Amino acid sequence: MEGAGPRLREALKGIPAYKPGRPAGGSGGAGTPSFKLSSNENPYPPLPGVLDAAVAAAGEANRYPDMACAALIAELSGTLGVPESHIATGTGSVGVAQQLLQATAGPGDEVVYAWRSFEAYPIITQISGARSVRVPLRPDESHDLDAMAAAVNERTRLVFLCTPNNPTGNVLRREEIEGFLDRVPRDVLVVLDEAYLEFIRDKEAVDGIEIYRERPNVAVLRTFSKAYGLAGLRVGYAVAQEPVATALRQTAVPFGVSQLAQDAAIVSLRSREALLERVEALVAERERVLDALAAQGWPGVPRSQANFVWLRLGERTAAFAAACAEAGVVVRPFEGEGVRVSIAERPANDIFLEVASRFAA
Ligand SMILES: *Cc1c(COP(=O)(O)O)cnc(C)c1O
Repeated sequence: MEGAGPRLREALKGIPAYKPGRPAGGSGGAGTPSFKLSSNENPYPPLPGVLDAAVAAAGEANRYPDMACAALIAELSGTLGVPESHIATGTGSVGVAQQLLQATAGPGDEVVYAWRSFEAYPIITQISGARSVRVPLRPDESHDLDAMAAAVNERTRLVFLCTPNNPTGNVLRREEIEGFLDRVPRDVLVVLDEAYLEFIRDKEAVDGIEIYRERPNVAVLRTFSKAYGLAGLRVGYAVAQEPVATALRQTAVPFGVSQLAQDAAIVSLRSREALLERVEALVAERERVLDALAAQGWPGVPRSQANFVWLRLGERTAAFAAACAEAGVVVRPFEGEGVRVSIAERPANDIFLEVASRFAA
């Protein structure tokens, strides 16, 4: 057959493309500063010690990395107080999430998650061949756990819970998660995506590590991309009991996590104090931005517990994003819904606030 080409899986048809945050630069006039507030990155560059470790590892780039990530897993085991056999690393926590789907779901299965939530979920779910079941957020932008529990049926293989939720910033409380888990069958994997854990200050927020110890059907996802500032190195991990942790080792891309990433992550864990000071500064900025938005009269902005804030602008979303770009900050619009704005350096946050004041009620 002419032009037929290789036969590709039907499941790939119509997969939405992942939209990376636009880079800074471009639309501002000459001399206008431009800041990227579109990907929830950490604005601080790697600590000198972390950089040194990465540079040293780069000097041995002719060698394969440690496939087992043994030293990193040992370091994490000590830091988190969990057995090494319960930790599995991957190419960012999105990579690990994809492995969890490979291990649990395929055609005919269902994957439940809140919507709107992390935009990688629909993509990796569709690649797996399973069907997405999206449960709308409540009016206050939080997960509707009752509706999510009701959406779980005999076809459900995996549930994503994103806390704090990207892009709205709401956290799940420990109590409500326990109640949810009590209602979900034991053979359904519940994934707690805690990419922004270090930015949480709400005392009642869930800590997945406490939950997973009693629950063999819970996997906790964490990453070095956000608070630890290593988004470019692609390293994240899951904490789960066996056999989930074993399934993650089975589905890992061999040598997926580079030695640069492993060594930089180890030094980052040992430099935790210094890194968490930076996180503290970002949290202070987040609170300042949220207070300023409240003072401007924005209704219904969630008290985000992550390193971003969410404005539900509806029809004004595109205009707002364009005004931000014009003023020198690139934000992340979700067409017709709202914008997510990462917390960054103070001057960048101030530019965003100035634009917000023009759009306030
Ligand atoms: C940023 C983010 C991640 C982390 O992605 P990496 O692959 O580790 O860089 C995971 N989950 C959510 C909800 C995120 O926003």
